[in-house]
Amino acid sequence: MPPAIILLGLAQRPTRGNRGRVDNERFKFLNSAMNTTEPYRRLAPWLRHRFGAAVRIIALDGGGTCPNRDGTLGQGGCAFCNPHGSGSGLAAQGLSLTEQYLQAYHRLAQRVPQAIAYLQSYTATHGPTGRLTAQLAELVGLPGLLGVTVGTRPDTLTPTTWQVLCASPVPVLWLEMGLQSAHDASLRRIGRGHDAATFARACHEAQRYGLPVCAHILLGLPGETLAHLRATIAFLNALPITGVKLHNLLVVRGAQWEVSWRQGRLPLLSRAETIAWVVEAIAALRPDIVIHRITADPAPGELIAPGFAGDKRGLHAAIHAALKSTGTTQGCRLALPNPTA
Ligand code: SF4
Repeated sequence: MPPAIILLGLAQRPTRGNRGRVDNERFKFLNSAMNTTEPYRRLAPWLRHRFGAAVRIIALDGGGTCPNRDGTLGQGGCAFCNPHGSGSGLAAQGLSLTEQYLQAYHRLAQRVPQAIAYLQSYTATHGPTGRLTAQLAELVGLPGLLGVTVGTRPDTLTPTTWQVLCASPVPVLWLEMGLQSAHDASLRRIGRGHDAATFARACHEAQRYGLPVCAHILLGLPGETLAHLRATIAFLNALPITGVKLHNLLVVRGAQWEVSWRQGRLPLLSRAETIAWVVEAIAALRPDIVIHRITADPAPGELIAPGFAGDKRGLHAAIHAALKSTGTTQGCRLALPNPTA
């Protein structure tokens, strides 16, 4: 199926109580065409194009837990994840979603009055569905809120969860779903607790429900080479996803990897290798996929290694320079799935 048709399919989200009918007006933003002279389809200009003005993503910590921490699958978490489930820890400090959103929103409301709230911490779709329903309901109507993006794992999306997501009155809604790698051996090494096939099935389910998916992957996982990265990108290219986040490996405080790294058991990409891997990922990626991030974004104070990851601005500049000097654009070396693999 060509990408344009994939996008058209995702642009249509079944309305509550009538899955056969689609609500084009509510969700057709995914089908936006955008002319860009940039080497890849960057999220910020894409959102500006779609909503007519700049849009911020406001990350929120809704607390909770995930199957890799509460004993459902395991207790230690994924090897890379911080003890707050990649969140800020503000929920544990007693700040509600509304308080967190308003604090962040008012800081820049004059300059950027539109925002999308990101339920980032742990797995927002894990646990009692009433919790997710309440969180989505709490966010509706907050000033400047255009929509919500929900952090999830592919193995937590039950029929009830899909119902909750589809029934939500939030006008714009998409899923942030971790794949990390298309290689099951890598997923086992980092203790993900699901395989790549589960991720693929969840993407197809999301398409059926009209919910867009932004896939998260990690670049430079132990044991992986550029060939593994190309295969992961090819895997994503074959799925009905609309966005991707590229993350370079980070060792953050309190993660399992902190111990491995201190014991010298976790090799990390150098800065030059990181830049080369990001360029390769962009070159191999389907051109319609919006790239939400090209590097990881450590929270203040949590980064242990590599030191260069703390200079996000410098790393981005170097990646953009490498894209320019090599004439690389998104999809210029499109990776397709290997049918014999
Ligand atoms: S990455 Fe997600 S699933 Fe893994 S430990 Fe962190 S919150 Fe849990």
